[in-house]
Amino acid sequence: MDDLGRYDAIVLGAGVVGASSAWHLSRAGLRVALVDAEGPAAAASGASDGAVSVASKKPGPLARLATASLLYTRDLAAGGPLTGRYHPRPSYIFGSGGAECGAIDDLIAKLDSLGSAVTLRRDGGPDRLPGTGAGIERLVELGGEGHMPGYAAVAGYLEDRRIDRIWPARVQALHETGGGVVVDLGTARLSAPRVVAALGVSTRGLFPAMPVAPRAGQLFVTDRGPVGALPGALTSAAYLLAKTTNPDVLPYPPVVIDPLTTGQYLVGSTREAHGDPGRVDFATLQKLMRRAAQTWPALRARRVIRAFAGVRAAVSDGLPIVGPAPGQSRVTLATGFEGDGICLSAMIGREVARLAMGQPPTAGLAEDMAALSPDRFARVRETAG
Ligand SMILES: Cc1cc2nc3c(=O)[nH]c(=O)nc-3n(C[C@H](O)[C@H](O)[C@H](O)COP(=O)(O)OP(=O)(O)OC[C@H]3O[C@@H](n4cnc5c(N)ncnc54)[C@H](O)[C@@H]3O)c2cc1C
Repeated sequence: MDDLGRYDAIVLGAGVVGASSAWHLSRAGLRVALVDAEGPAAAASGASDGAVSVASKKPGPLARLATASLLYTRDLAAGGPLTGRYHPRPSYIFGSGGAECGAIDDLIAKLDSLGSAVTLRRDGGPDRLPGTGAGIERLVELGGEGHMPGYAAVAGYLEDRRIDRIWPARVQALHETGGGVVVDLGTARLSAPRVVAALGVSTRGLFPAMPVAPRAGQLFVTDRGPVGALPGALTSAAYLLAKTTNPDVLPYPPVVIDPLTTGQYLVGSTREAHGDPGRVDFATLQKLMRRAAQTWPALRARRVIRAFAGVRAAVSDGLPIVGPAPGQSRVTLATGFEGDGICLSAMIGREVARLAMGQPPTAGLAEDMAALSPDRFARVRETAG
């Protein structure tokens, strides 16, 4: 077996969470290896929308951590690795019918409790945004959020050439020894005193006790139209409801229409309980397309040039899993970000690096970060036993 050497830290998984963690560890002066079975942004981070959205987060720790991440993303976009990767823009949430309009009321109450990072700019009917179609009862405009494609963020972090990239290389096993962790790649190995495992939906392969399950989502991209016709993301309140409700019982498909800087539209996304990133079906996409075109009729003049699917890593209690792996104190887990990983990645990478280096969380985040601890599942098993 080839020995690829000893590092100060090894990060497993080159998605947006792993890349951010590797960048933060490297910036702290550590010699870092980043390992991926396929390559950068090969899984969810390369097949998602990129809403950096506090509005769509469940109230509580997730919404507060998303707020911290939004603020930090802005910092990293001001001359740091996310410069030119993160784009601030307004976001519009629209609703029709009692359930969707109720979700908008809940959203406004949540924003009030989160401070000033995201502001409610306008609340009214669809006339607030010229170009919207029929069937919208209520539309609110939010300021302060933005968009960042996952693959673009990964590319930004990987501009740090000090990070050693090791791919394609699938991790087969981890062995804790007295001096650290040996990462077994089958035909080669490497070691470090600390390892970060940011393996997304594949987490269970190495950590079977972590309740991470796949949740697929289909999206489509159009050809280019006039740039700036839609100034920001147009998100259905059904999308907010889909985070806490079975999507099959929603009155409308959970649509997000994201205008890209190229003049294209990225439209997503379904939530399906399977893990097949290759499953793209016309009937499902047609529902999304219909609702999207009804909401933003300019889409009727565009052609769909690509449809694809990604797989989110969903956790049974709806919160990500971040912290020392139970029984493997040298391994920090960072997984289970479901539909929120792009938004959370900047702050999570920073906090994961701190955890891996034995430092406390950034001031003000300790309680919310503790809510993500993998220990909560070890405790559930003890109680059940
Ligand atoms: C349709 C869709 C829409 C979404 N929209 C948004 C959005 O608008 N906003 C938002 O914030 N989030 C969104 N998300 C969620 C976001 O994409 C994910 O939460 C985020 O990309 C997760 O990043 P990650 O680094 O944890 O995992 P991943 O990007 O999945 O990366 C895991 C990496 O681990 C590697 N790997 C796995 N097993 C091994 C192994 N054994 N050895 C080595 N490497 C391995 C994989 O190759 C992969 O590169 C969306 C997701 C989907 C699917």
